[in-house]
Amino acid sequence: MEAKITLLPGDGIGPEVVAEAEKVLAAIASKFGHTFATQSALAGGIAIDKTGNPLPEETLGMCLEGNAVLLGAVGGPKWSDPTAKVRPEQGLLKLRKSLGAFANIRPVRVFPALAEASPLKADRVENVDIVFVRELTGGIYFGTPQGRETVANGRSGHDTMRYNEMEIKRVLRVAFTLAQQRKAAGGQGKVTSVDKANVLASSRVWREVAHEVAAEYPDIGYEDVLVDAMAMYLINRPGDFDVVVTGNMFGDILSDEASMITGSLGMLPSASLGEAGSVGLYEPIHGSAPDIAGQGIANPLATILSTAMMLRSSLGLEAEAGVVETAVSQVLAAGHRTADIAKPGETKVGTQEMGDLVVANL
Ligand code: NAD
Repeated sequence: MEAKITLLPGDGIGPEVVAEAEKVLAAIASKFGHTFATQSALAGGIAIDKTGNPLPEETLGMCLEGNAVLLGAVGGPKWSDPTAKVRPEQGLLKLRKSLGAFANIRPVRVFPALAEASPLKADRVENVDIVFVRELTGGIYFGTPQGRETVANGRSGHDTMRYNEMEIKRVLRVAFTLAQQRKAAGGQGKVTSVDKANVLASSRVWREVAHEVAAEYPDIGYEDVLVDAMAMYLINRPGDFDVVVTGNMFGDILSDEASMITGSLGMLPSASLGEAGSVGLYEPIHGSAPDIAGQGIANPLATILSTAMMLRSSLGLEAEAGVVETAVSQVLAAGHRTADIAKPGETKVGTQEMGDLVVANL
């Protein structure tokens, strides 16, 4: 197949890790006879420096024209003045919005070779393979009215949590479709919807609509879990979950909690997706890691695994995605580690060497 992929290397370690993902893409293209036309564009701090805009029109145009976008990371101390009018993160928010990306997908998978890196006991996390689906464009982060005022008791602030049927249905359908795809590949075939229906009216609507959507997918198991209970279950029995779907704020918090189960930020990919056929955005969940930028020691695996997600979800290349994921497992099983996942005394490989090892295992 032919595909156009826009690369947004961004800041800090972004360019270093995206370069390794690009190597993997090129190797997959030649192995399977595809043509991937990659084009790099400015985004984040570097785009502010060069154009004054964290997401220049030219970059946005290139992203919208292509099949998918792979982002490294944006931001860093140079652009972190909270009073600055233009900030790198604004570019990212605008990009997600322009792509209509309403579902954020975060797999949390513990590679058996890294089970010991988890802060939880290895036997509890060995089989963890969860995908979080977080609603990204609604809920309390966007609800109006929002604001602050001074009342008789002093300063006061308020936010609005609102979800409508359309927003709930479309994100639930993403979750059920994922559960079906994962079931076909040997997964549990289960969706867990997380809400706070015992207290919040918006959650009661969420739960009602979730049940209606669940009825459309009789082949997939379904359960509702309250968000406070879910925070406990993720630590207590993380291996029981398959696809977890929830609103914007609960997903923000729970997906960060779950990411810690793996013990390494450098291993976790993500995707932000809109309606079928729209351009998907793929990125590691970590930031620009300014403390290690330019040293050639960053872990490129989160970005490489994000590339696997892109192959699967935006390009429909399931076999190719599996080949990349298997190569990563093999490299880890053979004992190769970047500094962030190495135990004391273990030999460490650099960013480029890790990329080369994955390519060699494809
Ligand atoms: P961070 O994720 O950049 O780094 C946290 C810690 O994890 C650091 O010690 C870093 O060295 C380490 N780390 C992160 N990724 C790694 C990798 N691939 N390999 C090895 N070690 C890795 O988070 P932070 O320090 O809070 O943020 C730094 C900058 O990144 C900030 O400007 C922040 O706004 C930005 N940020 C951007 C994104 C994004 O682009 N999506 C996400 C989070 C943070």
